[in-house]
Amino acid sequence: MPHPNDPKLRSFVDVDPASDFPIQNLPYGVFSTQAAPAPRVGVAIGDRVLDLAVLESEGLIDLAPAYDVFAQASLNAFMALGPRVWSKTRVRISELLRHDNPKLRDDKSVRTPALVPMADARLHLPFEVAGYTDFYSSKEHATNVGVMFRGKDNALQPNWLHMPIGYNGRASTVVVSGTRVRRPRGQLKPPATDAPSFGPCKRLDFELEMGVVVGQSSPIGEMLGETQAEEMIFGFVLLNDWSARDIQQWEYVPLGPFQAKAFATSISPWIVTREALEPFRVHGPAQDPVPLPYLRQAQPNNYDIELDVALRAAQMNQAAGICRTNFKYMYWSSVQQLVHHASSGCAMNVGDLLGSGTISGPEKHQRGSLLELSWNGTEPVELPGGVKRTFLEDGDSLMMRGWCQGNGYRVGFGEVEGTILPAS
Ligand code: CA
Repeated sequence: MPHPNDPKLRSFVDVDPASDFPIQNLPYGVFSTQAAPAPRVGVAIGDRVLDLAVLESEGLIDLAPAYDVFAQASLNAFMALGPRVWSKTRVRISELLRHDNPKLRDDKSVRTPALVPMADARLHLPFEVAGYTDFYSSKEHATNVGVMFRGKDNALQPNWLHMPIGYNGRASTVVVSGTRVRRPRGQLKPPATDAPSFGPCKRLDFELEMGVVVGQSSPIGEMLGETQAEEMIFGFVLLNDWSARDIQQWEYVPLGPFQAKAFATSISPWIVTREALEPFRVHGPAQDPVPLPYLRQAQPNNYDIELDVALRAAQMNQAAGICRTNFKYMYWSSVQQLVHHASSGCAMNVGDLLGSGTISGPEKHQRGSLLELSWNGTEPVELPGGVKRTFLEDGDSLMMRGWCQGNGYRVGFGEVEGTILPAS
């Protein structure tokens, strides 16, 4: 039987070559429809959603002894079954969608309810977020921010090259793409003023990141090895770590970001599995100095994922591209982040979300935040129609897309979108 990643596979569901969701992808999400409002688990295929709850109830997917894993509003129960079940299920779904398999293709009574038009599906947050940790693992991003705030000679803090730096964020405000984001309020103290005031953020920003979805738990007190950590990763989503730069600048000393990052984090609705990304695995940048033994990697753990950010101001008809970069530039890999996270004995949970940190590349157009693109507000980004931006304004919509380009197909993430509402 062909491997689910085989580029030659075709589905009986028509898939446009430019679609993010060919049979080689099969990302998981949670959806509902007007006709059937109970959220359940589905897989994206072309412009359809394959309803796994229907397949499960028809006995076409058998996860015995687990029942009704897909008739649920989150993927947590499925993720908890572990990597062997993830693999087996992906093989089965691929088999059922193949153009030369009549089982689902020719059974109209199952096929019709099981293949929902994507246009009719409302997409929900795909998993219950147990914990959210955000890292800071792009050397280009950390260097840019360091140069702006501390000068060229102290750009990278002395610890940065020795471990993935991160902080514990808020799971409570992780939202799915399409959720509108209210401009936060907070304490502001511009450098030129003597005292802080409280009010709406004036320097609202996005951060282009990927999110790792942890699908397995690890016990308190135990470290993880490279292979063990990798096998705990269920998949990846696009992640926008909305950031209030003015709140951040005043509050971040000495414990790091707090309210500046706590008001919203947006993720894309489809979780692209680690297995679907396997053909796009690449080496990350050389690590110098060589990391301590517990952080060393025997295999390439980065992924070649093209990333694109576009902004549409309220008065613009179309979004305009403002950043184009790639996930492969990350200095610290997701596996290293997870290994480091558990290294103190910190327990990981099913549904933990790890933000990669802002993804910036070596070129100017590869900067993954407005802070960097406008160089701390000194070089406005010019958009069509004379629109200029240093930071986000009310009514602005921000779109991030990501995809791996295969030969004749792409394994894509869809989109994460958010529009800014005025402060309440
Ligand atoms: Ca971040």
